[in-house]
Amino acid sequence: MINDAHVHFFSSRFLELLAPDGGGSDAVAARLEWDAPGTATELGDRWVAELDRHGVARAALIASIPGDAASVAEAVAHHPHRLVGFFMHNPAAPSADATLIRGLRDLKMRAICLFPAMHGYRLDDPIVDDVFRAAATYRAAVFVHCGVLTVGVRRKLGLPSRFDLRLGDPLALAKTALGYPDVPVLIPHFGAGYFREALMAADQCPTIHFDTSSSNSWIRFHPGLTLQAAFKQTLAVAGASRVLFGTDSSFFPRGWQRPIYEEHTRVLGTLAVTDNVRDAIFATNFDRLFPA
Ligand SMILES: [Zn+2]
Repeated sequence: MINDAHVHFFSSRFLELLAPDGGGSDAVAARLEWDAPGTATELGDRWVAELDRHGVARAALIASIPGDAASVAEAVAHHPHRLVGFFMHNPAAPSADATLIRGLRDLKMRAICLFPAMHGYRLDDPIVDDVFRAAATYRAAVFVHCGVLTVGVRRKLGLPSRFDLRLGDPLALAKTALGYPDVPVLIPHFGAGYFREALMAADQCPTIHFDTSSSNSWIRFHPGLTLQAAFKQTLAVAGASRVLFGTDSSFFPRGWQRPIYEEHTRVLGTLAVTDNVRDAIFATNFDRLFPA
């Protein structure tokens, strides 16, 4: 069985919010050479058909710009046993508290996604404590993008991306996360370049999990590191119960990123992991953190 912990939901509203002067979502999609997303319901249905085609049981769908949680909520409402809603949240924005509560309580999102390098705050800032406190109240997880951050769609549209990568430090995250022992934390892409710091953070803080998603091109910042070695070291430090498979799939017509699945399957094959370890990474950890 396969569950995917990392899929971006690039809705029509997402495109409108990302490029407000872009002439509408269809025009922006055309510039990107993507299929027009249509309504959130249509896009959600398309994702479920795509998951079916690849034998994927469940997936986390990420509302990938602040203000788009309602699109993901609409898709999830039609497929509650297949889709899990995550939403990007900026705790430094005006009226952040109201947005956060609306996402968790009204829109039933299961994870809050933080991008500190994009939104310019520290992970040990009290505003992040507020996020964890809300996550504890509503039994949600906190997803934190650490390390290098390149947003392909921003680059393609020529949008400024003046991110402060220093703010995505897993060690600052661990300090905050340790105060909330019931809140699962997800760090995508093994810390995306802050690999050593992410492992240290996971060693210090038992709630920290990793997702394996994307091409993991950050390994080029670590001389000699291979994806195989990154998996092996993560399993050695954090254990198999804290590693979740993800693809970082995002738009159509490309759809679900099967090559990522094949590569991670191959890598785990070379490590000769047990079936239990394999199942934990590809499916059961996700079901434990986000029961259907
Ligand atoms: Zn992503």
